[in-house]
Amino acid sequence: MENPLLGSAPLPPFAQIRPEHVEPGVREMLERSRARVEQLAAVPTPTFATVVEPLEELAHRVSRTWSPVSHLNAVLNSDALRTGYNACLPLLSAYQTDLAQSEPLYRAYRTIAEKESNALGQVQRQVIEHALRDFRLAGVGLEPARKERYKAVMLELTQLQAKFEENVLDATNGWTYHVSDAEELRGLNATLIDQARRRSHEQRVEGWILTLDQPTYTAVVTDAESETLRKAFYEAWTTRASDRGPSAGRWDNSEVMENILRLRHEAAQLLDFKNYAEYALSTRMAHSVEEVVKFLVELARTARAAAQKEFEELEAFAGRTLEPWDVGFYAERLQRARYSVSQEEMRPYFPLPRVLTGLFEVGERLFGIRIRERPGAPVWHNDVRYFEIESAEGQAIGSFYLDAYARSNKRGGAWMDECVGRKRLSSGSALPVAYLVCNFLPPNEGQPALLTHDDVLTLFHEFGHGLHHLLTRVDYPSIAGINGVAWDAVELPSQFLENYAWHPDVLTRISSHVETGAPLPAETQSRLMATRSFHAALQMVRQLEFALFDFRLHAEYDPARGGRILEILREVRSEVAVVPVPEWNRFPNSFGHIFAGGYAAGYYSYKWAEVLAADAFSAFEENGVFDRTTARRFLDSILARGGSRDALEAFMEFRGRRPDVRALLKQHGILAAGELAA
Ligand SMILES: [Zn+2]
Repeated sequence: MENPLLGSAPLPPFAQIRPEHVEPGVREMLERSRARVEQLAAVPTPTFATVVEPLEELAHRVSRTWSPVSHLNAVLNSDALRTGYNACLPLLSAYQTDLAQSEPLYRAYRTIAEKESNALGQVQRQVIEHALRDFRLAGVGLEPARKERYKAVMLELTQLQAKFEENVLDATNGWTYHVSDAEELRGLNATLIDQARRRSHEQRVEGWILTLDQPTYTAVVTDAESETLRKAFYEAWTTRASDRGPSAGRWDNSEVMENILRLRHEAAQLLDFKNYAEYALSTRMAHSVEEVVKFLVELARTARAAAQKEFEELEAFAGRTLEPWDVGFYAERLQRARYSVSQEEMRPYFPLPRVLTGLFEVGERLFGIRIRERPGAPVWHNDVRYFEIESAEGQAIGSFYLDAYARSNKRGGAWMDECVGRKRLSSGSALPVAYLVCNFLPPNEGQPALLTHDDVLTLFHEFGHGLHHLLTRVDYPSIAGINGVAWDAVELPSQFLENYAWHPDVLTRISSHVETGAPLPAETQSRLMATRSFHAALQMVRQLEFALFDFRLHAEYDPARGGRILEILREVRSEVAVVPVPEWNRFPNSFGHIFAGGYAAGYYSYKWAEVLAADAFSAFEENGVFDRTTARRFLDSILARGGSRDALEAFMEFRGRRPDVRALLKQHGILAAGELAA
């Protein structure tokens, strides 16, 4: 029997895929692919049809094999599956690197670009341009010595980034807090206290032992009435992996960070960029270092006064000067006092079936599509549902799975991922298929699952990503759907759709009390909507502080002066921050987003895409949130476009002008309607 990972059915045969299929299936797929790549690299007169299309087809097939594996590893994890998955990671990575550094293929693409360009359409030219760009960013064109050095630098960076993450993990696990007086636990929730009790039993000590994991840290600084406890946690948390705090000097990341910055700078310069920030921007919507800095500084200038005011109000409410470990605690109390809204209180109004019906109506009203459940499709778990999308004329467009509930062996959080990418090639066609994955509280016996409003926002967000993947009209997999979309623009459709979950019409349509069937009362709706702008400016300046720090760090690196990490942080804070921070705070030492993860010179992307989403939605507010003409333009210019067009051009085609930050400021109540930014 053939390995089920190598079949070509429209949907993966989930019921037949076993852990023992993973490594042999992936190995065989990669072997076949390598053989095919070799043939294509030797084509004597390369053309779009004889080289590019077959490579697009190949990428599609590799993804068809790998997508169900990585998906199952995330949602149905087991030791056997994890072993197979981990064994495949280096194989895939080696395959991708060899492909990206293939000089014969690079030459073939250049020949096609030179000789065939005039005969190709815009979308086909974009496929080639993206490929050429990625060849260069993998160092294909460098002379041998530089190419060698580039590879060595990249490998060392991978190792240093892993080391950074290990240090943070060890420092987090390496600190606990022992409580002997129950009074000190006041305000903390019962589950947390139970766990702390059990831990101390296991270690045969009296009292309670608290750990420094993220949920505990957040709970302590938000809920603990004891200032001593809050301060201890704040200090331990913000000095992890550094030269300060309770574990000073153990697991210190300072040198690792210096080396990471130095090597990133060197890698960028080997590819002829001035600095790492410039290198990172070569695949983004933002085009220059100046543009990003100006964006962040101007946003900060506008938000700072409002943030200052929010902070003064908070101090007035607390009746005292606030230290950084007090802010979360008093903010929570102020919000409750002001709006008397709790997420738990919302649940009975948002049964999942009702929310889904209302969400699909939003998609149908905006884009003229129809969404229907189709029972009987192969799924990986009984709770999973499968839906098909068709056009108003009844033509099939794509389909998606919804895996809604939390369960063991399933990764936390929520995401959209590609199951099958759209393609229309001479070798065959495929319709797009998406996975929408959430971690909602499962239903109780005899009741549907009940969501909080935060859950509802999550569902709208992921559905927005889903529409981006599913409504694409691009034929070539490498730039269809979310593929090839500039990374600072990829959160546009998702954050855009969240706006609908705040709209009164929609709130009424998606809510239906589980016992009475009544929609969310208007008065509760307005209290809920008011929380949207609570401390929005304080949150914004905090995000901007991180973003500016990250970006300047990578844009201003100077080998003669080193990383100047704390110096740049101090400068950024004096310009942006509102809440005072103690001298010993070492938050960069655990800032994994930029030192270990993929957000280096990219933290600004969160705000960047938020501006696009708010500004796009403001076009709907001007014309009516369900205006079909506006929605058609949004679909044609942005949703359906994939990576086939520069993200800024696509946005301008939709909006008729460049993005304007004021929509976001208004949305968060930082700027009153009609007021101009200074
Ligand atoms: Zn997202």
